[in-house]
Amino acid sequence: MTLTKKIIIGLILGILVGLALNVYAPSLFDPLDTYLFQPLGKIFLNLITMLVVPIVLISITLGVVGLGDTKKLGSIGLKTILFFMITTCIAITIGLTLASVIQPGLAGDFESMLVDELAEEDTPEKAPPVMETLLNIIPTNPIKAMAEGEMLQIISFSVLLGFAINALGEKAGKVKTLLEQANDIVMLLVNIVIKTAPYGAFGLIASAVGGLGLDAIKAMGAYFLVVILALFLHFFITYGSALFFLGRINPITFFKRFIPAMSVAFSTSSSNATLPMSMDVAQENLGVPKRISSFVQPLGATINMDGTAIMQGVATVFIAQVYGIDLSLTQLLTVVGLAVVASIGTAGVPGVGFILLAMVLGQVGLPVEGIALILGIDRLLDMTRTAVNITGDAACAYIVAKSEDGEVKLPEEQRI
Ligand code: ASP
Repeated sequence: MTLTKKIIIGLILGILVGLALNVYAPSLFDPLDTYLFQPLGKIFLNLITMLVVPIVLISITLGVVGLGDTKKLGSIGLKTILFFMITTCIAITIGLTLASVIQPGLAGDFESMLVDELAEEDTPEKAPPVMETLLNIIPTNPIKAMAEGEMLQIISFSVLLGFAINALGEKAGKVKTLLEQANDIVMLLVNIVIKTAPYGAFGLIASAVGGLGLDAIKAMGAYFLVVILALFLHFFITYGSALFFLGRINPITFFKRFIPAMSVAFSTSSSNATLPMSMDVAQENLGVPKRISSFVQPLGATINMDGTAIMQGVATVFIAQVYGIDLSLTQLLTVVGLAVVASIGTAGVPGVGFILLAMVLGQVGLPVEGIALILGIDRLLDMTRTAVNITGDAACAYIVAKSEDGEVKLPEEQRI
């Protein structure tokens, strides 16, 4: 059986077991969650997260070295950033439009819920100011950046390192060889670790679904459905047409081959943690050349979050509707701009979309407490939008590869 099938079985079993426990045996859920689901999930999460910093450092450095001249990096970098920016703008526009048309905020008596929920939930963290985020891209201490997993800082350090190794040529040949061997080692580790994905996926999903149950979805159904619909449209229409017209590949083939990575994103809710897997799948199943995958995907995991942007668009309009506030065109445009900038400075980890949302709401003058309304079901939406986030990164890698090389050789069959 392929790994993909095993992961999907893990996911489905996890959902069924979680739901069954939630509905029929809630008292059994707690011990099972503490001693089985959570440990299974945590072991898997720790194993893959362990590899993220080494992979980003090594692969981006080697990626820049492999590109050779600065011009190439410039052209790949430019295409990548353009793709990220444009798709994120489309994503948030879809979110804003659907929410304005369907009006989930008028679907129920949310205001009364707000008062109860607020008492229980903590107020969310504040997001850092935009300027600080941008200046923070340069680490003052690269070791600290790595120790704390500051992805954007690690990326900028790696790019500079790659340039320097390139500039020194033969003189730095040994370092280059060292990095290449380190890369082989880390990739082998990835291959071993992803074999545990089915068990991890099972544990993570059973824990999330068992804890939340269907009630959470029922209460916030309208909001939930609008976000899911927007994610769905963006996934199939935006990525589908980009892949079809720019990548010249059948989008269904692409999505099918990328499923193993999507299902891991779905169960971990973290683009960063999924990175080792999504790079491996893009290279092995879709034939994206290493030098492009290893530049585009780590960057995308950090700065490109279309699914998150969609959630922000829908949530902003939803909260405005609940409070009976009309958003002006300027405010809507501010949301678009902010969501794009905000997603740059924050890493792809679970729940980060929330911190960004707090900042967006604050900037357009909406009550930040409105977030309390959607906290309950965010875990479920986080899973789905993370899968969209990393698919956008992979689609970008494929399309950039296609435009740089003229052709991407799709492996005969799916390898993972
Ligand atoms: N969990 C998302 C990711 O890692 C970010 C978010 O929307 O919270 O891509």
